[in-house]
Formats: sequence, C-alpha cells, structure tokens
Amino acid sequence: MACLCDFCSAPNAGWRHPARSFTGYVVPGVIGESVGDWAACQECHELIVSGNRAGLTERSVLTFIAMHPELRVVKTELTTEMGMLHANFFANRAGPASAIA
Ligand SMILES: [Zn+2]
Repeated sequence: MACLCDFCSAPNAGWRHPARSFTGYVVPGVIGESVGDWAACQECHELIVSGNRAGLTERSVLTFIAMHPELRVVKTELTTEMGMLHANFFANRAGPASAIA
C-alpha cells in the first residue's frame, strides 16, 4: 500500500515515526489535528534522524507551496507555522522509526 510522506507529500513514504496525537494548524482546514504516527519518505527520514529541523521545514514548505502556489505570498508565515508543527512532532515522538513493510 502506497503511503504519502506526511512532511513533503512524496508518494513513497517508507518510514513510520511513532508520535502521540496533537493539534497543530498550519493553515486552518489544510492541516489540522495530527493523529498518531507520521509517515516519512527516505529524504525526510534522513532529515529527521539527523536532527536537521530547518532542512525538514524548508523541504515541507517548498513542496507545500508547489501544491498550493497561491500560498507563496505567505511563505515566511508558512515557514514559521510549519516549523512549529514540526517542533510539536519532535516533542511528541513516541519511539524510534521503523520501516514500513
Ligand atoms: Zn518526505
């Protein structure tokens, strides 16, 4: 079963990062509550395990804007919001990543 990366929406997420559920809005209605584990593609997984949060946030914002070009004008705000969302993710990690079979 194909799984989307929760960070950059790549269609080939191969890693599962356990996390507790939390509420964190990037844009109201676009990303709401985070429920449970996060899926990550290989590139995002490597950013996560290496602790490169700035790189992870930058990658997420760029792919998010690619899907929603009208949001380019609020890139700075998006970067802040996405960084806060990812900070929540890191704060709520519940264990080591495992490969998705
Ligand atoms: Zn990804």
